[in-house]
Amino acid sequence: MRIDVLGVGFDNLTMEEAVAEGMSLVNSDGFHYVVTPNPEIVEVCQENPEAMKTVNGADLVLPDGIGVVKGAAMLGTPLKGRVPGIEFASGLMAEMAKSGKTLYLLGAKPGVAEQAAEKLKGNFPGLNIVGTHDGYFKEDGPIVEDIRASGADVVFVCLGAPKQEFWMVKNGPASGAHLMCGLGGSLDVFAGVVERAPKFWCDHGLEWFYRLCKEPKRIGRMMKLPLFLVHVKQEKRKK
Ligand code: UDP
Repeated sequence: MRIDVLGVGFDNLTMEEAVAEGMSLVNSDGFHYVVTPNPEIVEVCQENPEAMKTVNGADLVLPDGIGVVKGAAMLGTPLKGRVPGIEFASGLMAEMAKSGKTLYLLGAKPGVAEQAAEKLKGNFPGLNIVGTHDGYFKEDGPIVEDIRASGADVVFVCLGAPKQEFWMVKNGPASGAHLMCGLGGSLDVFAGVVERAPKFWCDHGLEWFYRLCKEPKRIGRMMKLPLFLVHVKQEKRKK
């Protein structure tokens, strides 16, 4: 059963359980997709019913940010913990490297996906990356065809939310892939273009603050965080 946080249903899994679940989707027939909402995306879903439907329609909904975990606890329905998209992706790649599954990287500025592919092949020996494409294309058709031709089992779709979620639902089934994961800015981090917050900040739930200091232009987007907490408090009072 999923845990409801302001209408978004989160799967209550540890990192290990989430990776195992992801691998079982890779190995099953048909198309599946994973989303990793943070409080900002939960807030986007409040205003955009189509985004809410698309997020809740995913086969796996993982709590990316500490804010979601805090929100769930405040509502009296705690989650087992945070499952950051980037760590989930790393766990999945480790398993894919062992089992020979193939990966396609889609998104970020031109050159970044290729750079990420080189780094990831070094980090996960045996990982088979069969294609890459930047996230600034006009037509979906040629990208879907490229994924199909590559024979990728898994695609990391990194176009930012909710664009990537809509993209996966629209184009996933025709791509022939078994699993697509919406992973926001992860390719920038894998490529080394953007640095992830050091462990101390992550462990203390301050990753968002580190990102804000590094990229002050995110302030507009981050104002959604206090709004999220206000909405959670309102929901708690209703309950
Ligand atoms: N992006 C893209 N195509 C677009 C818009 C964005 O490929 O049309 C990429 C952008 O270059 C970045 C990622 O999507 O790599 C979004 O990163 P952001 O930090 O906004 O995502 P978050 O991790 O916060 O969800």
